[in-house]
Amino acid sequence: MHYPYVIVGAGIAGITVAERLAQKYDQPILLVEKRNHIGGNIYDCYNYEGILIHQYGPHIFHTNHKHVYDYLSQFTEWNDFQHRVLTYVDGNLLPMPISLETLNQLYHLNLSVEEMAAFIEQRCVKIDSVQTSEDVALSKAGRDIYEKFFKNYTMKQWGCDPSELDPSVISRIPFRFNRDTRYFADRYQGMPKLGYTKMCEAMLQHKNIHVLLQCDFRDIQKDITYDKLIYTGPADEFYDYKFGELLYRSLEFKFETHDKEMYQQAPVVNYPNDYDYTRITEFKQLTWQKHDKTTIVKEFPCFGKEPYYPYPTKEWKDKFALYKELMDQEQNVYFIGRLAEYQYYNMDAIVDKALKLAESL
Ligand SMILES: Cc1cc2nc3c(=O)[nH]c(=O)nc-3n(C[C@H](O)[C@H](O)[C@H](O)COP(=O)(O)OP(=O)(O)OC[C@H]3O[C@@H](n4cnc5c(N)ncnc54)[C@H](O)[C@@H]3O)c2cc1C
Repeated sequence: MHYPYVIVGAGIAGITVAERLAQKYDQPILLVEKRNHIGGNIYDCYNYEGILIHQYGPHIFHTNHKHVYDYLSQFTEWNDFQHRVLTYVDGNLLPMPISLETLNQLYHLNLSVEEMAAFIEQRCVKIDSVQTSEDVALSKAGRDIYEKFFKNYTMKQWGCDPSELDPSVISRIPFRFNRDTRYFADRYQGMPKLGYTKMCEAMLQHKNIHVLLQCDFRDIQKDITYDKLIYTGPADEFYDYKFGELLYRSLEFKFETHDKEMYQQAPVVNYPNDYDYTRITEFKQLTWQKHDKTTIVKEFPCFGKEPYYPYPTKEWKDKFALYKELMDQEQNVYFIGRLAEYQYYNMDAIVDKALKLAESL
């Protein structure tokens, strides 16, 4: 069987490319997905109680790219959701990221915006050459804040000490020198009114897009030919683990439904220092669904399950670079997405890249 375009993986990367190609060319596109649903990790569905949950952890759309927001807005309406996260430290639930409110509540102070910068500066540890995530946190926030908010959370999340991790891991967490307690400060934020899966379904509504679910590309590879392959699966798998497996950090999700309307004080509560899980998400606070009961999910980081987060150390970046060399030599294969590029991306970054790729094909 021959297809002009074959796309591997029906996550948001593959779906965006499929949608764009279908609009651009009047040619069949085969979208192959090994799971039994579309959407990849942004998939959401109703659980047995009828509560909308995110099967692979909470997903909040946020972006500063107007074109990405406008593009997705063709397929969904949005709830004007502004995400908030609390973190449980020393018996208090404090706003994250660390803002003026966080510091005032933690240290029982009444700092002004101007005083906050000086307060932190006094505590910052001077580090000449920042090499690790620990260096970043110590030099940006000082030891007490590092130990209360970042050290143990990072150890749980990655299963190793922040001093062993690339600086990019902790520098992703923004500090706020103001009273803004929203988790994201992006210009466009929201949750799809009917959920991500419905949005993805709308994107795939085209007669030329043929979706094959529960089908591993490797099982049909020999039976199909194509002009161009867009591959969003794992890079190491594509090359049959020629240089060995790439390491990912995974998560175990423990869902619980409680017989009460509300479970916690914010959509997400982080637990850096207590319990084995890193955070609890309450879905109704993300989706605004009305229901007598509520479903939460606890996240337990682990190794060896679904690949979620590329492991951010030099050793694994170097190993990926070996695969990247092969990828760069491919003629008709285009690699995109968090698995193929061995890189954590937010949804908006993936959509942005997928739009550009489809444009260039
Ligand atoms: C816990 C968690 C929370 C997140 N929260 C947010 C958030 O709040 N906001 C945000 O913007 N981003 C968030 N993200 C990031 C977001 O999930 C990604 O940006 C996005 O899902 C990446 O899309 P993708 O298409 O690259 O990958 P995926 O969604 O993983 O899609 C790849 C697809 O390829 C399929 N596949 C793989 N190999 C094969 C094969 N051999 N044959 C067929 N199919 C195959 C997989 O089954 C998968 O469905 C979060 C990520 C995680 C892990």
